[in-house]
Amino acid sequence: MNKIRNRVPKHSYKGEKWKTIKSNKKRLVIDFQNKCAYCDDFDRYSGGEDNYHIDHFAPKSKFKHLEFVYENLMYSCPYCNRAKKDKWIGDNSEITIIQNKGFINPCTSEYDRQLGRDDKGNIVPLTAIGEYMYKELKLYLSRHAINYNLEKVEFQLKQIKKSIDQKKVNGEYSEELEAVYKDLCAIFYEYYDISCQKK
Ligand SMILES: [Zn+2]
Repeated sequence: MNKIRNRVPKHSYKGEKWKTIKSNKKRLVIDFQNKCAYCDDFDRYSGGEDNYHIDHFAPKSKFKHLEFVYENLMYSCPYCNRAKKDKWIGDNSEITIIQNKGFINPCTSEYDRQLGRDDKGNIVPLTAIGEYMYKELKLYLSRHAINYNLEKVEFQLKQIKKSIDQKKVNGEYSEELEAVYKDLCAIFYEYYDISCQKK
């Protein structure tokens, strides 16, 4: 089983406390490294920062006092944010789980113990709490596997490009590498288009 993500996001900003979502978002993009807190999808495969949302981990409809508390804000793709909506177990913002239902804060490594990835990049639940989050956040959407694989292909493309450029510097030309690069580019853009259309 693979990990759902390679890094646990962290609210590292400790400066001015902003009272607007716009100001908070600027900093969240950096702290979450352009990735959704829940599904780990890159924003650039889904229309960029403007298309991404700010999720209130403990919903502001229930906990008004947390509306602009930075640590309660999660950079989120529109799919996870819309699926989560105002869902919350109980009436206490500090109690996130009751009888295996609720949400684990994605800025903890505990989150990664609930969910993993299969070999195709699909998110899979590992525990009862994971099962709850998987259903409530709609983590079964195929776009999450597509985006995960896009990221892998993009990484490979960069590596191959580096090798090609290095060879050029050395006055060499690799027909084989150029062909692999071209094929991978075609795959990347085919899936990129699918990601843009798919739910
Ligand atoms: Zn997401």
